[in-house]
Amino acid sequence: MKTLKKSTIISNLETAPGAYILSFPRSFDFVPGQVIGIAMNPEEKPRLYSIASGNKEQVIRILYTIKPGGKLTPGLARLQAGDSIFVSEPFGGFICGEEPAFWVATGTGIAPFASMFYSGVSNNKVLIQGNRFASGLYFREDFEKGMGNRYFPSCTREEVEGLYYGRVLKFLSEKETLDPGLKYYLCGSAEMVVDVRDLLIERGVPFENVVAEIFF
Ligand SMILES: Cc1cc2nc3c(=O)[nH]c(=O)nc-3n(C[C@H](O)[C@H](O)[C@H](O)COP(=O)(O)OP(=O)(O)OC[C@H]3O[C@@H](n4cnc5c(N)ncnc54)[C@H](O)[C@@H]3O)c2cc1C
Repeated sequence: MKTLKKSTIISNLETAPGAYILSFPRSFDFVPGQVIGIAMNPEEKPRLYSIASGNKEQVIRILYTIKPGGKLTPGLARLQAGDSIFVSEPFGGFICGEEPAFWVATGTGIAPFASMFYSGVSNNKVLIQGNRFASGLYFREDFEKGMGNRYFPSCTREEVEGLYYGRVLKFLSEKETLDPGLKYYLCGSAEMVVDVRDLLIERGVPFENVVAEIFF
């Protein structure tokens, strides 16, 4: 990974239990869907985070959850405005073109799609977002306002009016048609990505139309 540059935190706010949005000034250009490496000191091996902000915004935002016992995230969550972090240049190829597509995300896997959305490339996209609880449907209000009936939020551990109850896999499997000519972008846990990929392939979507990023 390229060298890490020091940056000063603007804010680091808990947006849902155990989930934080960290912001710092943007000092590079990026393509929505790309990731950066973040560390708390320059000697440490950075962890990767998808950029969740739009590519014209003056700040970079990332969305992360605390992993208990993790090397970075428990300490990262204690940092405050004015503290330093070390950040790499952006990189990565999870990039969505202009064509119509399905976006499927669970958990913090919503981050690259949030970046695409805030960068203005969601007009012909359908977004299926899942998490265990409604509080983990990050950026939901903005997606509801900006994507309307092309946005499908879902939860697996609580039944909430207006939200699909069940996994994103079940939601997709219940769809009568899944257009094999579309591209399907998947981001989240390995389990979700593998299960949804297999379903899409079973339903006739060519392998090359499934584009995936796994957060591990
Ligand atoms: C392309 C990509 C993009 C990503 N984007 C995001 C994002 O936008 N948001 C996000 O939240 N995450 C993202 N991730 C995941 C992120 O990079 C980190 O892996 C995550 O935040 C955990 O980091 P950590 O240092 O806190 O935990 P780690 O130190 O990596 O530990 C993770 C878990 O493993 C356990 N563990 C560690 N070592 C051991 C061991 N030896 N034996 C058993 N258990 C162990 C820890 O207790 C902890 O629960 C992304 C990953 C990839 C690959």
